[in-house]
Amino acid sequence: MSLKDELQALKSVLNDAASIDFPGDSDFCPNTIRWSEYAAPQPGAVINVATESDVQKTVQWAVQNNVKFLAQTGGHGWTTTWNIGESDVIINLRRMNNVSVNPKEGYAVIEGGALVQEVIEAAYGEKVHVVVGNCNSVGACGAMLGGGFSRLQANYSMSIDNIVSLRLVTATGDIITVSPTQNSELLWCLKGAGHNFGIVTSAVVNAFPEINNGMHWESTMIFLPDHIEEITQTINDLDMGEGMSIHYAFTGLPPFGFPAVVVELWYAGTPAAARQAFAPFFDLRPIHQESSPVPYNKINAVLDRGQYKGGFKPTWSVALEKLDPTAARDLWKHFLQFRLRHPSSKNSVVMFECYAFGKVREVPEASASFPWRNLNFHVCASLFYTDSAIDKHANAWGDKFRQILQEASGMRKNKVYVNYATGDESMEEIYGYDLDRLKRLRDQKAVWDPKGRFSHYHPIL
Ligand SMILES: Cc1cc2nc3c(=O)[nH]c(=O)nc-3n(C[C@H](O)[C@H](O)[C@H](O)COP(=O)(O)OP(=O)(O)OC[C@H]3O[C@@H](n4cnc5c(N)ncnc54)[C@H](O)[C@@H]3O)c2cc1C
Repeated sequence: MSLKDELQALKSVLNDAASIDFPGDSDFCPNTIRWSEYAAPQPGAVINVATESDVQKTVQWAVQNNVKFLAQTGGHGWTTTWNIGESDVIINLRRMNNVSVNPKEGYAVIEGGALVQEVIEAAYGEKVHVVVGNCNSVGACGAMLGGGFSRLQANYSMSIDNIVSLRLVTATGDIITVSPTQNSELLWCLKGAGHNFGIVTSAVVNAFPEINNGMHWESTMIFLPDHIEEITQTINDLDMGEGMSIHYAFTGLPPFGFPAVVVELWYAGTPAAARQAFAPFFDLRPIHQESSPVPYNKINAVLDRGQYKGGFKPTWSVALEKLDPTAARDLWKHFLQFRLRHPSSKNSVVMFECYAFGKVREVPEASASFPWRNLNFHVCASLFYTDSAIDKHANAWGDKFRQILQEASGMRKNKVYVNYATGDESMEEIYGYDLDRLKRLRDQKAVWDPKGRFSHYHPIL
């Protein structure tokens, strides 16, 4: 029987709001297209589920028919470890995007298919903050399951540290609750390696009264490249306290993509407090600077430009304790070389993500499988292009990018945040070198997913 025939039976038991698209259907591409098409899954169908029961029935159907499946929310995962082809299916969670907020009790319920922007809007409407990622079109749960970096971690720690409980469809199609009192060892795994254990249909998370009536602050600074060492050192020396976050990037300025050094600063609080916190940057003589208060639901807007779907965007990343000014200069030269050789890659970016980790380190290390609370910087490079002939040059460039950072770091072992990993790293590089942590992850994998149904995203082997 063909995949199409097998899916007819499934369709008849799903909610009326669910649908199934096949290649050639008008909705197939919009429902499968990813942020990066580099090494992307090429499924034979996409099942647009509408309810938790749909997710359960779909997983049970897939297991029964031995069909491989992959849950998808924002489609922003860029790993090369996908293993989905034309006889396999995508379970698209986007129709499960409800977010309800209870400001009095201080929690929010996020459905598994909600995007970051949808969570922020719902929280903003109720005058609370919920810790979700910094990019509007990323899946809130997709980001959370790896740790969940966010500007708000400066005040409340990462997304995983704000989980109250999760509803999960397991590899056998059972629906379970995971919380500190129910399946707690599994909860520990889901907090950092969560893409490997099931499909989260909803998450109950903390909600906090909004800071400064929801008015935060942001600043965009553009520098000449001769400031690279100074900027890098300033970031290294800065005490990243509550409210503070920085993106320092080598990127192309619109509309022509002229290579530039851009620093984005964000602060949760008043402009006066922000200027004090970031004072050293105002002394660095940017050639352009604009700062303003911004309502929290618009805080991510400045990053929207890099979130369009389609095209190839292979990405590499290294996690670091410190930034190295000389390595930053070398990366700038490396970035320019690629841009000169491949002018169409004008939207490419090298991004130094600098978040505050003080609150993250207040949370006990043992509470989650996330391994990198001690690291401060996550440097990512994404090359944007549309011609696959560039792939081999891009891959060589990416290897060199990591080598520059690793050699300068003085750290003997490479480390990478799971949500930023390329796909060619070892388990240790992604989930940590601690043997006990790896054993616990493998043990729970054997309990909950012995057949490896959830093994498409940096698998636990
Ligand atoms: C432009 C951009 C900005 C980003 N910004 C941030 C950021 O601010 N903070 C941060 O921490 N990360 C960030 N990331 C990384 C991001 O967290 C990961 O790429 C994440 O995996 C994306 O989730 P998604 O749902 O959008 O992608 P998808 O590709 O749909 O999913 C990625 C993985 O998560 C799984 N998944 C998705 N939803 C669920 C669910 N409900 N239950 C179980 N598994 C699920 C999928 O099966 C897949 O394995 C960013 C990535 C990009 C491309």
